[in-house]
Amino acid sequence: MGFFSWNCKQCGESIKAPYDVPEGMEWQNDCVLVREDKDPLIGEYDGYGRIDGFDLTGLPGDPELWHENCWMNEERPLYTGPSDYADDQGFFYDYEERYSDFDISKGIE
Ligand SMILES: [Zn+2]
Repeated sequence: MGFFSWNCKQCGESIKAPYDVPEGMEWQNDCVLVREDKDPLIGEYDGYGRIDGFDLTGLPGDPELWHENCWMNEERPLYTGPSDYADDQGFFYDYEERYSDFDISKGIE
């Protein structure tokens, strides 16, 4: 099964899988599940729908997720509604920048 993720409610960037995260972007792996009826759950996203072992796919709908930093900056807001599913799956982001060292047009020298 591949990676999947959701976008942070505040900044719109995906919650990142903890693999191959570029330097300086690691904080986007720390996230918060904001719930309507329970306390928020804070932890690391595993890239496969779990926060510290808690399975988000077992929820009735899409979860509301924030980066922990974003949520703290906004002073821990309460539930407002589900996050958007992340097109980059929390992994296939920033692709060109990350792999810019490899120029395929030059071929192998
Ligand atoms: Zn964010």
